[in-house]
Amino acid sequence: MKSYTHTLWFNTKNRQEFINITPQVEEAVKKSGIKEGLCLVSAMHITASVFINDDEAGLHEDFSAWLEKLAPFGKDKYKHNLSGEDNGDAHLKRTVMGREVVVAVTEGKLDFGPWEQIFYGEFDGRRRKRVLIKIIGE
Ligand code: ZN
Repeated sequence: MKSYTHTLWFNTKNRQEFINITPQVEEAVKKSGIKEGLCLVSAMHITASVFINDDEAGLHEDFSAWLEKLAPFGKDKYKHNLSGEDNGDAHLKRTVMGREVVVAVTEGKLDFGPWEQIFYGEFDGRRRKRVLIKIIGE
């Protein structure tokens, strides 16, 4: 079995952003030389997500509005922020949107369903954070 590991780094301009990272993950699959296997893409911070959905701007605005309803930003809204942090909302948003995705690798390519794309979801940005890509197979 072969294994390939790659790290993506982010430092977003805004506190919250969604970034399509499908091209970077496709590049990693290509470099791995793996034709049949699994590709894990994982957010390595507890205030960021990796998720799969449609690359459609209206949907991304819907995600933002929905998350803001569920967990509005606000220093005095969360017990977690009593620790001196201001990112209580970001921990909750991350949990809703997920930590990682696993995509099958078939004939050397990410085996997506219709319209599926991989996104990095940042909820407490403006600092350096990373995403792990791990591909295993033959
Ligand atoms: Zn925190």
